[in-house]
Parts: sequence; structure tokens; C-alpha cells
Amino acid sequence: MQTQSKLLFFVALMLLGLGLATIVNVSLNFREYSIKSATEKATMTAEIVKDGLTAHMVNGIMNKRAYFLNQISSNHDKIKSLWIVRSDKVIQQYGNGFSNEIIRDAIDKEVLTTGKTVQKITESTENLMLRITIPYQASLTSNPNCLSCHNVNPGDTLGVISMEFDITNMRSAGMLTILKILGINILFIIIALLLTNHYVTPYISLFSDMQKGIRKAYKGDFSHSFTTSATEDGKKTIDQLNTLFRKMQETFGDIKYNLSTFIPQGCVSSNDPLHEAKTIIGELSDIYKFKKTIENDTTKEIIYQRIIDILHKKYELAHFAFYEIDTHKGKRKLIYISQDKSICKEEVDSNAVLCRAYRTNTTVISSEFTNLCQECECQDLKYLCIPFTINDENALVISITTKDTHQLKKINSFVTSIENYLEAAKPVIESKILMSKLKENSLKDTMTGLYNRRFLEDFIDTFISQAKRDNTTYSILMIDVDFFKNVNDTYGHDVGDQVIAKIGEVIRNSIRESDLAIRYGGEEFLVLLHNATDEGAKKIASKIHSDFSKATFHVGNGKTLQKTLSIGIANFPKDGNTIWKCIKYADIALYVAKTTGRNKIIAYKPEMSENKNLR
Ligand code: GH3
Ligand code: MG
Ligand code: MG
Repeated sequence: MQTQSKLLFFVALMLLGLGLATIVNVSLNFREYSIKSATEKATMTAEIVKDGLTAHMVNGIMNKRAYFLNQISSNHDKIKSLWIVRSDKVIQQYGNGFSNEIIRDAIDKEVLTTGKTVQKITESTENLMLRITIPYQASLTSNPNCLSCHNVNPGDTLGVISMEFDITNMRSAGMLTILKILGINILFIIIALLLTNHYVTPYISLFSDMQKGIRKAYKGDFSHSFTTSATEDGKKTIDQLNTLFRKMQETFGDIKYNLSTFIPQGCVSSNDPLHEAKTIIGELSDIYKFKKTIENDTTKEIIYQRIIDILHKKYELAHFAFYEIDTHKGKRKLIYISQDKSICKEEVDSNAVLCRAYRTNTTVISSEFTNLCQECECQDLKYLCIPFTINDENALVISITTKDTHQLKKINSFVTSIENYLEAAKPVIESKILMSKLKENSLKDTMTGLYNRRFLEDFIDTFISQAKRDNTTYSILMIDVDFFKNVNDTYGHDVGDQVIAKIGEVIRNSIRESDLAIRYGGEEFLVLLHNATDEGAKKIASKIHSDFSKATFHVGNGKTLQKTLSIGIANFPKDGNTIWKCIKYADIALYVAKTTGRNKIIAYKPEMSENKNLR
């Protein structure tokens, strides 16, 4: 049933209940009143009959009493019958009386015996009768004294008078009253329903419109426009609701658009945009934290371990293997496995191309085709293998297994999310691979332990293109020893070499794993600080500067020497769009430091390039 019909039904029910209660109350009272009034009349008639008979007795015309009694009953159309009955003692003294003055029923008998009035109501569909029998009792105090004529004791019953009253009319009057009340009630109910309907209808339709709008909003559609015929408060509420929905629609549109730039479409599927936004933001936040964490990890092995932990804890994967593939050599290396044995045939390790997921670069799911991967040795296991390319030389494959088809479907729903993590880890793993390769490649200067100039020339472009993809910045420090030539000239090359080695040590102790330090020239050094702020870069430059100036060098004969540094700072890409430009700018800043007194740190400013003297 609709809300409006329900409301009207309950209002009608309540009013009807009220009306019925009134009718029942009135009819009960009316009945009681009718009986009471008839009883009073009967008592009064009995008194008249009693007085009349006494008068007949005193006047010695007792034998004429029939006329008197007939007159009373015939003059009152309500009295249907009236008769008197003598008691035994009166019969003994005066005889039986007229033939109709005999005991007619049990009531007459009872009243003669008990001396107590009895009344009885007889009701049928046609009429309502009140039967009342009243005793006459002998009294000493009455006037005339009963005992003066009757041979009885005081209090004895002399006789009874029985009457039958027809009170059908009273019942009819009661029925009429009840019908009138019922009529008034029905009229009142109709008016009340019409008024309720008139005032409630706009609010009821507003309510059902709101239900409709909220149902749509629950599914993420806030485009519903509410309308109402209600005035004042109702209208105001609807205006506010429409404004709120419009704002929600705009806000969700923006959120959805912005989030879709971070997470691929279809990654989270839900009909509830609030839930969708919450899931995507949660996912982004997890990935952000993951990325921040792995950036400070020192090796790719640690990053692999973190991915393995995520697969275990976040996706609750019980059985999987994690492989690294060397694309150049075509070899596959098992990094981690949660069960005893790989599901793949052994030859895949020496010939990685046999791995279907790696070869096709698409996720392989066993449910797609019978015996899909020819290299899989598992009999009753379902599998899902995710390939992921790190760079030209490296790829990863995660091979997940389960016994349950339902579980396989669930794992499949995680693939995009797992790929998001791998995507986030990709540049970091790439840089770790590059770093470890660099270490192997003996691109280091033996005197300082830092990278040499060749390293810079061979690898800086790779670093920078990766930095551009990753929005990484580099603060560039160009460092040069002040008046170094004097050291060589005065104390010889050995002392000069000591000084150069010391700079290497000071620089290594001042930078992080992700930074790069290069011996750029003879006693000139280049430091690339990864994602450092201007302030952070100055701090590190100051540390290098101050640590080096504190170092003492033994120059023979118990004498020591101390040297100072000049440092120029530039920032990539803030100061220039290529790293080489920025290195040049750091050099210009160093030149300014040198020409303005040495032993100082100077940050590059564009005006320095404009000054022809400084070029
Ligand atoms: P400035 O303050 O202007 O830098 O003055 P400077 O004397 O340091 O001048 P400059 O930078 O031109 O001096 C570089 C000298 O470094 C020239 C070269 O003899 C010396 N040098 C280059 N490589 C080595 C090395 O491996 N060992 C030693 N001992 N000296 C080196
Ligand atoms: Mg110098
Ligand atoms: Mg120099």
C-alpha cells in the first residue's frame, strides 16, 4: 500500500474507532436510562394503584376495583397489562378476589414469598418489554393503618401488583440517536479525510520523490532534480536539497575524472562512487607509501621482497612464485617460491621464452583454455601468471596457483592492482639494476672511490630520462679545491693526492645511496643530489665544505696543512632543461665563488650567465 493510502486509512480507522466508542457509550447509557425511567414510572403507577385500592377499600367499593385498574392500564398505552394478586392471608380474610387476580407466573410467586420487587426485561426484534412486580406490605404507620382492616402482622406482604411496560419506543428513539451520531461521524470522517488528503498530498509526493532521488544517489547518480507543490518550509528544503545534489554531482564528477588519471579505468568496479573513490584513494595511498619506502631501499632484492610481502599480506596469496628474467641471456631466475616446487618445467629456467606469460607479455589464466601453458606440469592446480617488463634487459613473472576455481576468479580481480604496484616499483627497480651494473662496470675513480667522468658521459642521459618520467629533481654541486696547484707545487703530488682522496671520503660520508658523486676533473667534483630541496642541497654542500676544511694533511717535518673548497650549486630541471646545461650553471656558480674570494658556497642565479665576465 502506498504511504498516502496508508495514512488516510489509519486516519479513517482512528476516527471510525472514536465514532464507534461514542456510539457504544451512548447506546449503553440510553438503554440504562430507558430502563430506569420505565422502572420509576412503574413504581409510581404501583403507588397510585395501592392508594386507589386503599381508597376503594375505605369507601367500601372494593368490588368496583376492576374498572379502576382497567382505566389505569388503558389510559397509559405504555402499560400493556396490569394485574394484582392477593396474598394467602388476604385470601383467607377476604376470599380469592376476581378470577384474574391469581398468581400468573413464578415472578408473582417469588415476590409474594420474598416481599422484594422483581423486574425483568424481555427483548425481541419487534419489542422491548419491562416486567415489574412490586409487593404491598402491611404497615402500622401508613394512613389508614393497614392492620385496622387486615388480619396480618406488620411487614407481611398483602399482595403484589404486576405490570408489563412496552418500552420499544425508547429503544427506537435510542436507535435513531445512534444513527444520527453515526451520520455525523461519517460526515466528520469524510471531511477529515479530505482535509488530510489536501494538506498531506504535497508532502507525500515530496517524500516519494525524495525516495526516488536518494535511490539514484545511492548508485552514485546525483542528477535527480526534486520538485514539490509544497510551500514555505517544504519548498525551502527542496531548494537546499537540489543545491546539495548539484554540488555532489559536480564534486563526484571531478573526483572520478581526477582519480582516473592515476588508476586505469576498470581497476575498481562498483556502482557506488563513494565506495569507488574510497577504494581508489586507499589504493593510491598504499602505492604512494610503497613507492616512498622502496625509493630508500638499497637493492632491487629488497624491493622484490617487499612485493612478495604485499602479495602475501594484502592479496592473501598462499601459493606463488616470483621470477626475474634476463632478456638478453634468455634466462629465468627464481627469486621466491611459497611451495616446494615450481609448476613450470625445468627447461623454462634456461629458456625463458618458453614461459607463455613472458613470451606473449599478457596475463595467462588457466581457465581460459584447456592445457593453456604447455610448460605447466601441474595436474589439478589452476594458475595465473602475470608478466611485467622492467626494461630492455629485465622482466618479471609472478606465477600464482590455487586449487579452487572460485579463488582463481578472485585472484584475477587483483591483477590490475598488482600491476599498479609493479608499475610504481618499475623505475626504482630499473635504477637499482643500473646502479648495480655501474658498480660492476668499473666506472669508478680508484683514488676517491667515486664515479669517474666516463660514467657521467655514458650514463647520465639514462638517469635523466628516467628522472623526467619520474619527476625526479637533481641538485648539482660543483666542488673545487682552492689553490690546489700550490699543494702540488709546495708539497709534491703525493700530498696533492692525499687531499683529493680526502674529498672523496668527505663526499661519500655526506650523501645518500640514491645520490651520485663523480670525480669530474683533477680536483673538481660533481655531486648529484636526488630529490633534494634547495635548502637540503645547501645543507649537504655546507657539510662537505666544513668537513673538508677541518681535515688536516701531514706535509712532512711534523707540519700539517688545511685546505678549503669552493662550491657552486644549480638545480635540474629548475635552472635548465638539460642536465648538461645545469652542470654548466653549477660551474658558473663555482666560478663566481672563485672570483669573489673562494672558500664559499654559491647557488646559481640566471644573472650570472648574463654577466659576460663570468662566462
Ligand atoms: P683555484 O683555486 O682557482 O681552483 O686554483 P687551483 O690552483 O686549484 O687551480 P686549478 O684548479 O686550475 O688547479 C688544478 C691542478 O690540479 C692542476 C693539476 O696539476 C692538479 N691535478 C690534477 N689532477 C691531479 C692529481 O690526480 N693529483 C694531483 N696531485 N694533482 C692533480
Ligand atoms: Mg682548484
Ligand atoms: Mg680545478
